[in-house]
Amino acid sequence: MAEDVILSVKNISKCFGDLEVLKGISFDIHKGEKIAILGPSGSGKSTILRCINQLETYDSGEIDYMGKSVDSGQALHQLRQHIGMVFQRFNVFTHMSVLQNVIEAPVHVKKVPKQEAVTRAKELLKMVGLEGREDAMAKNLSGGQQQRVAIARAMAMDPEVILFDEPTSALDPELVGEVLNVIRKVAAEGVSMVIVTHEMNFAREVADRILFMEDGVIVEDASPEEFFEHPKNERIRQFIRKVE
Ligand code: ADP
Ligand code: MG
Repeated sequence: MAEDVILSVKNISKCFGDLEVLKGISFDIHKGEKIAILGPSGSGKSTILRCINQLETYDSGEIDYMGKSVDSGQALHQLRQHIGMVFQRFNVFTHMSVLQNVIEAPVHVKKVPKQEAVTRAKELLKMVGLEGREDAMAKNLSGGQQQRVAIARAMAMDPEVILFDEPTSALDPELVGEVLNVIRKVAAEGVSMVIVTHEMNFAREVADRILFMEDGVIVEDASPEEFFEHPKNERIRQFIRKVE
């Protein structure tokens, strides 16, 4: 194992009933690395993120966190504390204030003293452009603002890795840019990221590596330049053209 590998996804397979949705997925996530997962709808992108995060069981294969299989309770506990996830929607507790959303996990899961959590939350809310909105109820925010709260909330746990599952797909077009800008800032902080997205330009700009999934298989694992300039096959060429 290379020393800077944080997460290792090893030959993960998964069926839902008769449907084999992951057919032996393997890749490593290195420290600070930004990986974009692209691919058509139904190819297994969300399922692999959910398996990595242990929100979903898998039939075979192994996920290692910091070199240890998460089958051991200790590594699982570590992984749970150090992986953040941002979904397409339903990310925030709408009945809580913005600040409460961000301090919830640090205070209740990580047992960070409340005052310390509040100080950090305010810094993060500033980073996501929500300074001064600490007391607003999350339900009164726009979708883009709610996603930015969700990102601040993920960052509040001081994660090694954040998994983003189409974080802008449910947003009105005019709100997409503000969320992508915040993800750019998170990327600049050095956090490792895996991001499933259909925003091709964004993937090209932010990712160090592009994985292309189709029918439960990673069919391409390449640098953005290679992926976009020299698509491996006609299928990928069509995909790039269609979503752009
Ligand atoms: P993607 O995120 O690439 O669109 P998903 O990982 O969501 O793909 O889904 C992959 C396949 O697995 C799809 O055919 C989907 O219908 C199926 N699937 C996903 N979740 C479930 C589930 N909980 N039960 C049954 N089938 C599922
Ligand atoms: Mg999905």
